[in-house]
Amino acid sequence: GPPLSTALEARRLVKDFRGFRATNEVDLQIREGEIHAIIGPNGAGKTTLFNLLSGFLRPTSGEVLLFGERIDTLAPHAIVRRGLSRSFQISSVFPTMTVRENVLVALGSPTPLPGQFWTPLSRLEALGPRADEILDRVGLGAAHARLAADLSHGEKRQLEIGISLTQEPRVLLLDEPTSGMGSEGIARVIALVREVARGRTVVLVEHNMSVVAELADRITVLQYGQVIASGRYDDVRRDPRVIEAYLGE
Ligand code: ADP
Repeated sequence: GPPLSTALEARRLVKDFRGFRATNEVDLQIREGEIHAIIGPNGAGKTTLFNLLSGFLRPTSGEVLLFGERIDTLAPHAIVRRGLSRSFQISSVFPTMTVRENVLVALGSPTPLPGQFWTPLSRLEALGPRADEILDRVGLGAAHARLAADLSHGEKRQLEIGISLTQEPRVLLLDEPTSGMGSEGIARVIALVREVARGRTVVLVEHNMSVVAELADRITVLQYGQVIASGRYDDVRRDPRVIEAYLGE
């Protein structure tokens, strides 16, 4: 078939923190439409890489390209407008608002930055049908009237993903979507990621290898800031360097 196009790409991406190299010449290729997991032991540089991809950190050197265009000099909100967004943990959720109000203010927000919502709720009602559609999509339709503060840990993650969807990203970054969850929550998140991945590209950092095995089309493994393997899960998990990296943890 035709070559798959690249949605998101990192080229020789370096980030130094006062002499400590957190990512070291990272090359990453995320294909359009795939679910791609970034894995690696603690301290491997996964969070730093996510911050570089989403504009929350500037690289020391190297490039980030979204659909072939450089984004590494853009601010996070400008990157969101180009089609990449990142699911935040909790910080973007207003605890004293209902679930539905949280989605409404996100839909009405001129920028995706937490704390910068200016549109009064009364004017947001026109966005109600879209809010309800998103809530159904993330499995929170029945929870729409609850206060965000009263949601379970797993439901908060669902709401965060719903808030990200208000930006209609072509590429969605998910930072450890199953962290702190039991098996029931994990099963829900797997189903949810599959659902939101329809028609878009998803990149996730994930520690739970059974989640990675179930969800990821391809994976990239980081260790000490470097890519040690990349490819299909079944191939990469047999790579001796990957086995060694995990046994040594
Ligand atoms: P991971 O997400 O894979 O656990 P991180 O990207 O959080 O790894 O961290 C990679 C390395 O970079 C770690 O050794 C960490 O201590 C270091 N690091 C991350 N952020 C900073 C920072 N702001 N200042 C100094 N060192 C940092």
